[in-house]
Formats: sequence, structure tokens, C-alpha cells
Amino acid sequence: MEIGINTKCLHIENEETSGEHFGAISYPIYQTATYAHPGVGQSTGYDYSRLQNPTRAHLERVLASLENGIDAFALSSGMAAITLLMELFAPGDHIIADADLYGGSIRLFRNISEKNGITFSSIDCYRENVERYINENTKAIYIETPTNPMMNVTDIDAVAKIAQKYNLLLIVDNTFLSPYYQNPLDLGADIVVHSGTKYLGGHNDTLAGFLVTNREDIREKLRFLIKTTGAGLAPFDSWLVLRGIKTLGIRMERAQKNALEIAKWLKQQRLVTKVIYPGLPEHPGHEIMKRQARGFGAMLTFQLQSKEFALAILEKVRLIKFAESLGGVETLITYPTSQTHADVPREIRESNGITDETLRLSVGIEDVEDLITELETIFREIETGQ
Ligand SMILES: *Cc1c(COP(=O)(O)O)cnc(C)c1O
Repeated sequence: MEIGINTKCLHIENEETSGEHFGAISYPIYQTATYAHPGVGQSTGYDYSRLQNPTRAHLERVLASLENGIDAFALSSGMAAITLLMELFAPGDHIIADADLYGGSIRLFRNISEKNGITFSSIDCYRENVERYINENTKAIYIETPTNPMMNVTDIDAVAKIAQKYNLLLIVDNTFLSPYYQNPLDLGADIVVHSGTKYLGGHNDTLAGFLVTNREDIREKLRFLIKTTGAGLAPFDSWLVLRGIKTLGIRMERAQKNALEIAKWLKQQRLVTKVIYPGLPEHPGHEIMKRQARGFGAMLTFQLQSKEFALAILEKVRLIKFAESLGGVETLITYPTSQTHADVPREIRESNGITDETLRLSVGIEDVEDLITELETIFREIETGQ
């Protein structure tokens, strides 16, 4: 039986669990490091929690189901997931990566992966001819869509066709939309990355990261790597993310509705020179997203007339929190220049369009009138010089 995505957030398809764990509806937290063996050469299926833990395994099954993968891996943060992913590559390998990525991914690639002998071509995958950058050492294409923070939208299916033609891995960081709105594996990707800290966890209370694949060979390599390197998600954190996922659908719908209203409101403001939200019909990626996603998400980026206005907004917000991160129930405003993208060299940042006037909003699930009222008050104060 095919089940819907909201049901998948609560139940695993075709899994007979009645009677297990005393019928517990909330999956138990197996707070154990190790497991006793029934006898020599025998195992309960669990040996040591670095390798596998029942709570983490349950969460991994949920993620695999949400992304239509054959397996998923839960790591201690999004960056731990991407770091593990990079272990699939060897010195001399070349990767084509989106130019506009989460700042931490850029920092990892430039400072760690390059040191380990991997080379990168950073290009705007949404508008450049990816094929032109492929050489005999190219092993993978790494994209985000929409990108963080400039919300560039890449046609996943088109890039997947190129990846298939040259036998490259297509890796998609799907954090911004979550599996609720987009499933890159269905569009031809080989590996999906998530910062589970964001929409999946959803409550700004825990870090987590995921890799999901639909390829048997990659699954085996990743299982070996997680066992060997040891950044698997802890049992309690796994449980927090499991709890978060139960409400993924209603949170995403509500946050997206709020985001669209705020985007429309921001567009009317004199202090705002540009609003970048893929849910607006004028966004260049709007039509592609209508084809490849089920929604537009709740992240939006906007430009102010001046740096002073941007800083004044950050100083004045109260209900909206001035904080890094995204995808939680609380609305957060971020200054990419000094926060998420501070370690990205200024020239790269600016060529991506991130300036001192750029603010990023992760819209939460508050009453949207209250969010707009706060912004209205702040904008009025700025305009009247208070
Ligand atoms: C936050 C984020 C990451 C990193 O995840 P952490 O859980 O913070 O380590 C990776 N990619 C994207 C798109 C993100 O927003």
C-alpha cells in the first residue's frame, strides 16, 4: 500500500510493529553503548552503538521512507554528514559544486577536502553549462536547490541526466525544502543530504544530519564509513528528531503560508530593494520548482537600501530572533555576511550576491500578523529615524 507523506512521518510503510516495545507509540530511546550477545557467534542484530542503535536505526528507516531511498544514515550534524560523504572520494578526484552553498559546506570543501587532495569547480549550476566543467577526474556534482541563501533553483532532472551520462554522483542538499516538499532521488539524484537540525528536527533544539541513498553500492560504503569514523547520531537526539518529524507536514505548510505573506508584504516596502522567494511568480526558478517540488518552502532573502537599515532591523527585532539556523518553529533572521557565510571569502560572497545589505529570514509558524506587525513597527521607526 502506498501511503502519503504525512502518514510516512508517523508510520513506516508495511512495517508490522504491533506488540513490539510493549506497544509504545513513541519509539523508545535505547540509551545503551553496547549489547550482550546470546552466545558465541550470535548477535541480537546490535553489537555496539557506533555501528548501530535501535533508536537511530528507526529514525534512519523513517528518513529512507520520506526520501524514497533504500537506506539513510543519521549523523551528529549536517556537517558531520557532509564530512562523511566526502570520504567517498580520494585524492585527485574532482567535484563540481554549486557556488552558492551553505557557508559551512564551502568552508569544509575549501579547507579540509582540498587539503585532502580533492579539487572543486565552483559554478552556478542553475545557469551554467555543467558539462563544460567535467574532466576525466570528475566524480560528482554537488548542489543545493534552492541555494542558501540566494535561493537559486537548479533543474535537478537536467543535471541528473548529465551526471548519468558521465557516470558521476549527483548529490543534492535538500535541507531548504525537506522531504516534505522535494525528493531529489526521484528526480535522478544518487545521494540526498540533510541538516536535520533544520526542518526535520524543527524545534531549534538539536543538531542532526542525514545522508540518504537509493544505491546499494553507496549504502555499503556509507555503512562502513559510519561504523569506522563514528559520528552517528546519539539515541536521545535521534528520538528528538523522530518527534520533530511527526509534525513536519503541518509545520512546513504553515511556515510556507506565512513566508508567502511576508514576501508579499516586503515587496511593498520602500526600504526593501529586492525580495527573493521562489514562491513569488517572478522568481526565475518558480516554474522549475512547480515541476520538481511540491512547495516553495519558508526561506526568503531580501535586500535593504543600505547596510545601516539591515543592521537596524537586526538590532530592533524582538519576536523575530536574530540568530543563525533555520527551519524551526520560531522565526529567525540571519545576517549571512557575519553569520552563516562569514568564513566565505568576501569576493566569493559578493559574486554570489550576498552583500552587507542582505538579510535572510527563516519564517516560523507564529501568527503571521504578529510577525508583520513587528516588521511594520521596525520599518516605521527606521523611516522616521527613531
Ligand atoms: C545548516 C545547514 C547545513 C549544516 O548542518 P548542521 O546541522 O548545522 O551541521 C548544511 N546544509 C545546509 C543547506 C544548511 O542549511
